[in-house]
Amino acid sequence: MLILVVNCGSSSCKYQLFDIEVRPPKEVEPQKSLAKGTIERIGGRNSGCKDHYQAIKLISNKLPSSKIKGIGHRVVHGGEKFKAAVVIKKDVLKSIERASELAPLHNPPSLAGIKACKKYFPGIPQVACFDTAFHQSMPAHAYIYGIPFRFYRKYKIRRYGFHGTSHRFVANEASRKLKRPLGKLKIITAHLGNGCSMTAVLRGKPIDTTMGFTPLEGLLMGTRGGDLDPAIVTFLMEKEKLTTSEINEILNKKSGLLGISGVSNDMRDILVKMKKGNARAGLAFRIFVYRIKKYIGAYHAIMGGLDAVVFTGGIGENLPGLKQMLSRDLRGALGSKTKFLIIPTNEELLIAEDTYRLIT
Ligand code: ADP
Repeated sequence: MLILVVNCGSSSCKYQLFDIEVRPPKEVEPQKSLAKGTIERIGGRNSGCKDHYQAIKLISNKLPSSKIKGIGHRVVHGGEKFKAAVVIKKDVLKSIERASELAPLHNPPSLAGIKACKKYFPGIPQVACFDTAFHQSMPAHAYIYGIPFRFYRKYKIRRYGFHGTSHRFVANEASRKLKRPLGKLKIITAHLGNGCSMTAVLRGKPIDTTMGFTPLEGLLMGTRGGDLDPAIVTFLMEKEKLTTSEINEILNKKSGLLGISGVSNDMRDILVKMKKGNARAGLAFRIFVYRIKKYIGAYHAIMGGLDAVVFTGGIGENLPGLKQMLSRDLRGALGSKTKFLIIPTNEELLIAEDTYRLIT
């Protein structure tokens, strides 16, 4: 069955077409990815694609549209409402719209993509898969912040966690690789790309994750600094006379590996400079690794043991030295039973499988 997966960002639209089949008993077997691509610079001058409607129209012209049986969308924020993927109906659209307040840069493009698919793939059922859904199983003591409780009630300020589809995919794959049921495993999944997050997955359910109300919290990332004393924000705003959008820009785009090294947000550049003796690139790398170690220790403690640490994402998948370094350094603390694995993520495939399950 042909399933199209769509991932709309603010200025891009990624798509991938899968052929999904069922092998008895009920196991969904991915056959293959038949086509994939990205429409970039949506809305840009001379881009030839003025909005997401036009992007989806272009995609529909490239694909065997009449044979597609379902469309799965990646949606960043589902608020507290969505704990799993859902078939998109009117009320779902409204809820995604409401959650736009929490993800103003991410949810509106997804909404546009969904509406455009309704127009250019008429009658084909659509499914929303939320980045936040997997982490909805976290207990309140992990997701409530230590600020007046009324702000949780009023604005839904809490830890949501992101990269959920990726964490879920690699946790499932780890259980398959270890030949043990997920329901019996204590796993830490580390998605290390431009954005980085780690999740403690206890018997298949996340019980904590490093990203929080937004993707700013937790690990050191390409351009985001992760954990930070919030007093730094008000201090800097006062001293440097910064507006909210300026401080936002610093925290989201100018910090992390880039901010510390002054070299690049890209780990490959950091490694090259570090090897040439650049001290700040070396410092950025050490902070990156240290933060991961610290969270492995914390999650090991809250799960009361650890069967496996799984690395994925651009850095996690392509820098085996990181896995080797961490497994060597943590051997004493964790014991020899904890496995360190590299598993390439495939969020699109999981979205295709979720879509298949929901529409059949
Ligand atoms: P995104 O979060 O945008 O999807 P990716 O998962 O592609 O990003 O990860 C991008 C990061 O992966 C960059 O920091 C890049 O330097 C890093 N990366 C890619 N290949 C390698 C490699 N061979 N060694 C180290 N880092 C790598």
